Amino acid sequence: MLINYRAGSRAKRSVIQKSDVLINLPMLNHGVVLRLCHVGLRFEKVKVNENIFFTRKLILTPAVFFYFYTSKFYPMPYTAPDYYQIDDLLTEEHKIVRQSVRDFVDKEIMPIIDGCAQRHEPIPGLMKKLGDIGALGPYIPEEYGGAGLDQIAYGLIMVELERGDSAVRSAASVQSSLVMYPIYTYGSEEQRKKYLPKLASGDMIGCFGLTEPNHGSNPNGMESNIKDMGDHYLLNGAKMWITNSPLADIAVVWAKDEAGIVRGMIVERGMEGFSTPETHNKWSLRASMTGELVFNNVKIPKENILPNVKGLKGHSHA
Ligand SMILES: Cc1cc2nc3c(=O)[nH]c(=O)nc-3n(C[C@H](O)[C@H](O)[C@H](O)COP(=O)(O)OP(=O)(O)OC[C@H]3O[C@@H](n4cnc5c(N)ncnc54)[C@H](O)[C@@H]3O)c2cc1C
Repeated sequence: MLINYRAGSRAKRSVIQKSDVLINLPMLNHGVVLRLCHVGLRFEKVKVNENIFFTRKLILTPAVFFYFYTSKFYPMPYTAPDYYQIDDLLTEEHKIVRQSVRDFVDKEIMPIIDGCAQRHEPIPGLMKKLGDIGALGPYIPEEYGGAGLDQIAYGLIMVELERGDSAVRSAASVQSSLVMYPIYTYGSEEQRKKYLPKLASGDMIGCFGLTEPNHGSNPNGMESNIKDMGDHYLLNGAKMWITNSPLADIAVVWAKDEAGIVRGMIVERGMEGFSTPETHNKWSLRASMTGELVFNNVKIPKENILPNVKGLKGHSHA
């Protein structure tokens, strides 16, 4: 039986075994590792035909280890204070969803977020990873690729992602609330089937174009417009401060028709006259890409118009 005790920061990530029990003492920013069985390597001398060899053997020794570790070397699983006892109002499913996103943030975001923000770079493969954990359009029904969760679960997911960084939450909430929600709520059945499953998995990235260079807080002043050309519309105008525009495969765009009524439409990358220049040197949300949407006589097929909404209520609901 091994009995071991180490203090301070020696219990680095490498010495923690999978079977260890970690007991957190969050108030002290320390924890205790309880190990009941030590897995190690032992070198053994073997004599074969007068030659001496050393072989390595895996050993399993009953042991009790106490390691004090600091979050500096072994980040402790995050536990949030619950001052208003909100947890009492949550279902088990809510808590499981929250924990899985919390773990994702600890593992995938925390180790790299400082570097991405410093370098003003997006988090590599973020949208696909968010799709893998079901954080894109979580409340969209399963038949369209969503997780079929409720809005409370969606809120909990966003809170956890925001802990990682606003850039992560922004990527997920724009895709979920501002791209998937309008397509699901105001789109045709064909549009739902075409876009939602890929947006949910992160295989397709969407952005939302409302804000214009001269009209931020007052979207009703928008100048982007569409003209009916018979079998299609012609879209002209520009949007700015658009999250994920340089990465996006599609943009849900709001523009006024000839009667001055705001219409929503899906603009696809590759359409002639459509470009997405990146906005550089932001002072915040630096791990999130932001850009413009520029429309220069872009032909919008009529089936790309969101058929079930007219006016500003579409984007304000989103
Ligand atoms: C990083 C980032 C990402 C963004 N992503 C998107 C996106 O994905 N899609 C999108 O459409 N937009 C996006 N936006 C745009 C955002 O929604 C706008 O910045 C916002 O609507 C404000 O518009 P503005 O920046 O033009 O500010 P302005 O409208 O110029 O406002 C400037 C200041 O004046 C105040 N103000 C304005 N009007 C009034 C008034 N009448 N009374 C009192 N105070 C007033 C405002 O509160 C603000 O403090 C993004 C912005 C940023 C910074």
